[in-house]
Amino acid sequence: MTEIHDRVCAGCGAAGDEAGHLEVCSICQRHFCVDCAHKGYGRKFCSADCARSYYFTGETDDDENLEPE
Ligand SMILES: [Zn+2]
Ligand SMILES: [Zn+2]
Repeated sequence: MTEIHDRVCAGCGAAGDEAGHLEVCSICQRHFCVDCAHKGYGRKFCSADCARSYYFTGETDDDENLEPE
């Protein structure tokens, strides 16, 4: 896999070195820092939109189907 540009936060643009630890959004594969992380469904995403996408696409890689609350 080729790296997409540098590792920068998709939200605030902070570089990986500065942000410390960037995580990769499981939906859009972009990096995001802890400050910009949106938590949802036991995971973290780069944005609320991705959290919703995760829910609606039902992409569970290690969990059984999540029941709506
Ligand atoms: Zn950020
Ligand atoms: Zn995302």
